[in-house]
Amino acid sequence: KIYGKRANSAGVELGVRTELAALLGGIAKASRSVNAVPLIDGLKPWGKAQDVISPVNGAKVGSVVFATAEEAGKAVTVARKGFSAWSRVAVDARAKMLERAGDLLEDNRDHLLDLLSREAGKTIDDGIAEIREAVDFCRYYAAEARRQFGADKVMPGPTGEDNKLRHRGRGAFVCISPWNFPLAIFLGQVTAALAAGNSVIAKPAEQTPLIAYEAVRILHEAGVPKDAVLYVPGDGSVGAALTSHAEIAGVAFTGSTDTAWAINRALAAKKGPIVPLIAETGGLNAMIVDATALSEQVTDDVVMSAFRSAGQRCSALRILYLQEDIADNMLEMIEGAAKELTVGDPSLPSTDIGPIIDDDQRKMLRDHIAAMRKSQKVHYAGEAPNDGLFFAPHIVELDRPEVLEREVFGPVLHVVRWKAKDLDRVLDQIASTGYGLTFGLHTRIESTVNKVVDRLDVGNVYVNRNTIGAVVGTQPFGGSGLSGTGPKAGGPAYLGRFALEQVVSVNT
Ligand code: GLU
Repeated sequence: KIYGKRANSAGVELGVRTELAALLGGIAKASRSVNAVPLIDGLKPWGKAQDVISPVNGAKVGSVVFATAEEAGKAVTVARKGFSAWSRVAVDARAKMLERAGDLLEDNRDHLLDLLSREAGKTIDDGIAEIREAVDFCRYYAAEARRQFGADKVMPGPTGEDNKLRHRGRGAFVCISPWNFPLAIFLGQVTAALAAGNSVIAKPAEQTPLIAYEAVRILHEAGVPKDAVLYVPGDGSVGAALTSHAEIAGVAFTGSTDTAWAINRALAAKKGPIVPLIAETGGLNAMIVDATALSEQVTDDVVMSAFRSAGQRCSALRILYLQEDIADNMLEMIEGAAKELTVGDPSLPSTDIGPIIDDDQRKMLRDHIAAMRKSQKVHYAGEAPNDGLFFAPHIVELDRPEVLEREVFGPVLHVVRWKAKDLDRVLDQIASTGYGLTFGLHTRIESTVNKVVDRLDVGNVYVNRNTIGAVVGTQPFGGSGLSGTGPKAGGPAYLGRFALEQVVSVNT
């Protein structure tokens, strides 16, 4: 199990085993406590340190001093000063610093993997993928900044007039990121804002401040000035102080739809310039499987989409529509595969599913299953260790899709049966949720693919594969409606939203 399905020859197994042993040894050696404090250039932190506790076993991972709302206000003033110098740094020089940050992330891989595992409960697979994504963001936005902002764009115009389109930073940008991708999404937002010429006030999720602290220190080491990227950890009051501050130039936010609404209201009520909000929120992500689908492929993809990362991805599959002719067989196969998953300590290579991030989230999941037991059919309830914040995969069959009213952020797969003649009704139902983040389709009928893709306003559609793990520059990621504003992270339109456009027309 440890060596994966493809390790089918003794030589490969030995190679993988040696590499794995080296990796685990490196991670263990790199393990150390991190003590984070706000990094607001020129300001000594005021608050008291508090312990950061691991969701894996309750052990102390390090400590953090949260910023106060007042310090957050001061951070905006510092970042505004930092902006005037940073916005004048040449695009190529900014890009080089981001690339250097990408290299430093790779150099610090083992330490970051250890932190991702202990602070965020990430499995080794997920940790490696997350560092990869963070590095990709650094390099991709560096390259895109050069391509899009490197030179003024000459616009067509009449003889005797030169028209040029230029891009520059907007000012002090606020980036608020979630705990489920505490390195990749944190750095994705921050590097995009920096690449476009903004200074950044970065507020990580309160559950995962330590990885973010290390990421900001890496940016400083890569040459980004301390007054151009500021680290302001804290709870919701810090986020609220930042987003209601009159002098901010924009907000990038990834998290819940409710918080995105609250930020929208704060931005509407604040004084000062009207600024953009780039929000990436949740989803009620569906997958439709018809009778022509390949059942082994469906099984793999469903298990991966619904349960990997303990379902704590906004892209995760929440509701699976199985065509009724194949539903019993598919359910049996999916349940069989779910039974094979190991829930537990994420630092062990044999673990498939790590912990839930905190007690509140696990209670929400337990309450949800208890409610489902009353009116719906809980098909499968897996087993999880009792110590630690674990929650095993569950499969719940719903008698109608409307029962699932909101995103349940965890390893719970909801299943609904549908009849071939009702495809339109299923599509209407999915559209009517108002969410539009990811969507999966398993079919071998091309006209079904075209029809479904056309009908749904979903940001990321995956056909005959799983629905998670969007790759930077390959699958730009983000949704519409209740799932967010766009533009998509890791795509060509993202940086433009962080930049100010200026047109200079000269009568020559
Ligand atoms: N980009 C991630 C994926 O494709 C999900 C991001 C999120 O959960 O916020 O799986």
